[in-house]
Amino acid sequence: MDCMKTRDLLHGYLDQELGLASVMAVDRHLASCAACKKIFDQQSALQSAVRRHAAYYTAPAALADRIRAKISRAAADTPAKADKSRWQWLQFGQWFQLGAAVAATAAVTWMAAFQLNGPSQDELIAEQVITGHARSVLTDHLADVATSDQHTVKPWLSSKLDFSPPVTDLTTAGFPLIGGRLDYLDNRPVAALVYRRHQHLINLFVWPDRMSDHTTPMQAISKHGYHLLHWNEAGMTYWVISDLNPAEIQIFAETYAGAK
Ligand SMILES: [Zn+2]
Repeated sequence: MDCMKTRDLLHGYLDQELGLASVMAVDRHLASCAACKKIFDQQSALQSAVRRHAAYYTAPAALADRIRAKISRAAADTPAKADKSRWQWLQFGQWFQLGAAVAATAAVTWMAAFQLNGPSQDELIAEQVITGHARSVLTDHLADVATSDQHTVKPWLSSKLDFSPPVTDLTTAGFPLIGGRLDYLDNRPVAALVYRRHQHLINLFVWPDRMSDHTTPMQAISKHGYHLLHWNEAGMTYWVISDLNPAEIQIFAETYAGAK
């Protein structure tokens, strides 16, 4: 993929709207082109800043009432009631205010609709988890450190990350550890632990929770033919994904959560 095509796709790439093939093509180009990578970094920083700092407001019910009152007042007034030029100014002033109010309401409503209909944070992360899993399987890049030895995988990941993910070999429970690798999710480097169940691969993504130390129950999500399980515990966020059936994923997650 060339620079022009990459830059065309950059917004879609940042918004996670591209298909897997395009994501991988953009990935490859960004890895080898410093100029496009620089543009990507700038846009990514801008996107994060907007997400972090943009204010959202819900339109107060009183605003709608005020607009309705203005409309009925403007409709009730007739030129005959007042001096013509004064009326024209009044009319202009009223419609100007009304227009501004309508514009403000439209903007607020649009933002509210965007908030309500836009994907939730979990859905956005789920999409990234699926992409990360599919990429690791399709490119056969499952592990940066390929060993079932948890005492090798954990220190390797800890040395590359600013946290230490819990790593446990679950061979005795039927889920042998394949290894670990670095991945990038939710705008940060994360640990990816890879396990196997018969011929099925399991990716377990771990990174520190934004809200420290809150615990959420396991939540199952099914998307694009994959089954995901997600929970928070003791300051860490966990996402499991596999093409295993949901029941076996649940067993894996509970075994892992119980063993670590
Ligand atoms: Zn380029």
